[in-house]
Amino acid sequence: MSTPIRFDFTRQDALGQASTAHAWARVPEALDPAARAALNARAKALLAARGAVLVAHYYVEPELQDLALATGGIVADSLEMARFGRDHAAQELVVAGVRFMGESAKILSPHKTVRMPELEATCSLDLACPAEDFAAFCDAHPDRSVVVYANTSAAVKARADWMVTSSCALGIVEHLKAQGRKILWAPDRHLGRYIQQTTGADMLLWQGECIVHDEFKGLELELLKAEHPQAKVLVHPESPSAVVALADVVGSTSQLLKAVTDAPTGTFIVATDNGLLHRMRQLAPQATLMEAPTAGNGATCKSCAHCPWMAMNGLQALVDCLERQTGEIQVPEPVRGQALGCIERMLAFVAAHPQVLATPATRATPHLVTGLGAA
Ligand code: SF4
Repeated sequence: MSTPIRFDFTRQDALGQASTAHAWARVPEALDPAARAALNARAKALLAARGAVLVAHYYVEPELQDLALATGGIVADSLEMARFGRDHAAQELVVAGVRFMGESAKILSPHKTVRMPELEATCSLDLACPAEDFAAFCDAHPDRSVVVYANTSAAVKARADWMVTSSCALGIVEHLKAQGRKILWAPDRHLGRYIQQTTGADMLLWQGECIVHDEFKGLELELLKAEHPQAKVLVHPESPSAVVALADVVGSTSQLLKAVTDAPTGTFIVATDNGLLHRMRQLAPQATLMEAPTAGNGATCKSCAHCPWMAMNGLQALVDCLERQTGEIQVPEPVRGQALGCIERMLAFVAAHPQVLATPATRATPHLVTGLGAA
């Protein structure tokens, strides 16, 4: 079954006109327990037989997260997924996530086979940043260092000086600012604004957004917070500024997870994709976790704080891609080679400055911008 998805698409021309773009996601069929168990066993056997390793994102279905961990793979954010895939001895990587994650794995490991259960699983940030428009934007601002978020196509990365993830974006932009560089940022406007206000860097922002994080609402969050004054509010910085302003901790998925495991009996309101709550519950079973409110009351993917494209990764699709040897990611040259530079620059920076990953922004962080809460 396909779910239609609408999202705002703002052109980066002089008029900056916004329109509504359309996409779709395919929702996997629900499985009964017997079918689920059989597919799980089949997937384990296929991974072992092929010597393949499963690299899963925190936002995919719990059963795929558990399978990755049970078979020697990993559940991680996009930075750690890229590093793990590159460094693992397996010659076949199965990436359960969205397309740009598979592309990043292939860019870093061109000699390995990289498969995805669903090649059509994409991301609104990637869709809203077409490579040709982005190249024109860069051409118009040649004096700026081009910094792109991981959630972009290989062709967009090919034009960038730096790739960042939400784990290391602050540290890398601070580094560029210290060098006196002006920045062109794409594609997430909320994350870009958060980094701009936190670092004070000169940043020109592309106007994309994540359809999941853009749905969190400040007013409703404030009401929930008032009902639970003891709760710490954990926010991913792809969220709107009114939500970030209420945060006790702003950080990447890994940093939000760490905030929970550091206080394993605490109470938390979590403003990110609810797929992350599975790992939070596993690592801190005593913690009380609440999902931050989103716009919709209905059960559509857009209003339930779960990425419809991450949800396309199901057990059946995983077994199919391993059994039929389909879903292989290709990133042709010269795009792959051109995109490699910005990813390697990020990985080298993080290896040389591991402290940039250690600490999310909190209300106690001294460089917070006054009046912007946790930012
Ligand atoms: S949660 Fe948002 S940023 Fe992540 S893949 Fe889905 S649409 Fe993209």
